[in-house]
Amino acid sequence: MKKIEIIRGDITKFDGDAIVNAANTTLMGGGGVDGAIHRAAGPALYAACEKFNGCPTGEARLTLGFNLPAKYVIHTPGPVWHGGQHQEATLLANSYRHSLELGDQYGCQTIAFPSISTGVYAYPLKQAAQVAIQTISEFLKTAKHVQVVTMVCFDAVTLKAYQDALNDYQK
Ligand code: ADP
Repeated sequence: MKKIEIIRGDITKFDGDAIVNAANTTLMGGGGVDGAIHRAAGPALYAACEKFNGCPTGEARLTLGFNLPAKYVIHTPGPVWHGGQHQEATLLANSYRHSLELGDQYGCQTIAFPSISTGVYAYPLKQAAQVAIQTISEFLKTAKHVQVVTMVCFDAVTLKAYQDALNDYQK
């Protein structure tokens, strides 16, 4: 049975097929969840990312997970929030959809996401959660391999936002 799970936790501990990294367009590491993933994966992740020469916003690239419990890391730069009139919602949906498509191509059954763009990139949490839940739900209808998508929320406010978005979507 395909489903979305929402949990509170640290995505670097996720023991599944793939975790998604809220990267920046250089793919060369940064703060927040990106920094945490690079620290936990080890320097081989940086070397693997270097080969891509960056990644446009809303697209996705896949590497191994190296020292992480997850087999793969899918790197996607989400949009920076510039007020909502600059394709932010489309770009955020693209990040989720392209990450899921790439994971599916690699046969992933379990994929975990952080709350893309709602940290330093300042995307409003409630709106970001709606985009995420809608995009993941639509994707799961046609997924070949992906069975469970887990939103790993780092704090209680983020957890509630995604729980509310999922409840509203299922109404
Ligand atoms: P962005 O630049 O896309 O906004 P950030 O890393 O600044 O990315 O924040 C995205 C979300 O990831 C925020 O909700 C932040 O609290 C969360 N986060 C930070 N570290 C972790 C972690 N280890 N596991 C899961 N989520 C994390």
